[in-house]
Amino acid sequence: MNAEIIAVGSELLTPGKVDTNSLYLTQHLNDLGIEVVAKSIIGDDRSSLTEQIRTSLSRSDLVILTGGLGPTEDDVTRDACAAALGLTQHFDDAIWDAIIDRFSKFGRPPRDNNRRQANVIAGAEVLPNPNGTAPGLWLAPAPGKFVALLPGPPRELKPMVQDQILPRLRSLVPPSVIRTRWYRVAGVGESDLDALIAPIYTQYTNPVTTILAAPGDVHIHFRARTDAEPEAEALLAAVADPIVALLGDRIYSDDGATLEESVGRLLLKHGATLATAESLTAGLLGARVTETSGSSAYYVGGFQTYTNAMKTQLLGVDPAVLAEHTAVSEPVAIAMAQGARERTRATYALSLTGYAEGDQAGLVYCGLATPTGVQVRKLKLFGDRHRVRSLAVIQSLDWLRKTLL
Ligand code: AMP
Ligand code: MG
Repeated sequence: MNAEIIAVGSELLTPGKVDTNSLYLTQHLNDLGIEVVAKSIIGDDRSSLTEQIRTSLSRSDLVILTGGLGPTEDDVTRDACAAALGLTQHFDDAIWDAIIDRFSKFGRPPRDNNRRQANVIAGAEVLPNPNGTAPGLWLAPAPGKFVALLPGPPRELKPMVQDQILPRLRSLVPPSVIRTRWYRVAGVGESDLDALIAPIYTQYTNPVTTILAAPGDVHIHFRARTDAEPEAEALLAAVADPIVALLGDRIYSDDGATLEESVGRLLLKHGATLATAESLTAGLLGARVTETSGSSAYYVGGFQTYTNAMKTQLLGVDPAVLAEHTAVSEPVAIAMAQGARERTRATYALSLTGYAEGDQAGLVYCGLATPTGVQVRKLKLFGDRHRVRSLAVIQSLDWLRKTLL
């Protein structure tokens, strides 16, 4: 079964309002194995909505409309749907009584225009709406074709989806089992990662593989759907296992943990602590490490040393080294990491110094002081100021993570 969603409402075509109902619906439809093949957003206009309903129904088995069931003239979903299906509407006394009842709880009578909400398209089942006046409608206009009309406010729509729509759909589709796996990878660009793993995952349509990328941080999602659990696990393993083997220690998380959480877990496991010394990022690295609750168990603190004077004063970087090599250099990154480690007595210290803009933008040195010595890495990062700083944080954390493995 495939589905289409039509979000109705002129407000959804303005810059200020997003159609979130369709995301919610898509999640639940997918869980049942129903693919959403198209979504549209239509303003409060009867003829364009009528046309859209006809188009959607001609190519999809299930069409779900949200919004436009209100009491006013611009709420046209019921009328457009009746027109598209060539059906009449009748006034339903039971719905009207329920509307009167609801209004009386608020101590006032309904208005005349609320009567529209008691209109039912011929042959439709009425879907009660415990959180609003407008009931939904469920129609089966032709064999294998279904149309649902739901109210727009998410707090009304969601319970109706749970109580009315999903039970109906479950009886229409074969039962299916969904199994998913998530992996997170740091320090590899999205296109490089895709080039590496596409030869594997493109061989499979089930599981579906989705790659979500943020700068320096890529999430890989596998979703298998079958009618039996062991089969779903086997399908997942077929595509995910070779990819996991290929990516090896580039995967920092398979349970949703963030990069800083993964680093934190490893530090805890080793009974180790961390200090930071930051020039380029001026505290971003320390802030990132402490995003994780419980980070005080392993993070001792950091030095924000933006000027040369501060590098000398707080970290003991030799002014002669700064003069000879400049602040953005291997020896300074080393001296910063060493200084931070010695002054805090942390097990590990990370340092970052680099250019976020200018001729040499993206040139970054990262130092890592460990119990067995200090190392330095030269990074060439691409992007604007914000991106260079954020990639520097990610790469330094990922380096520490791999060192701790
Ligand atoms: P309606 O049922 O058209 O009267 O919609 C009432 C309200 O529900 C709108 O003003 C929106 O705030 C909200 N709404 C309608 N459609 C959506 C949607 N697709 N996603 C999120 N909110 C919506
Ligand atoms: Mg509306």
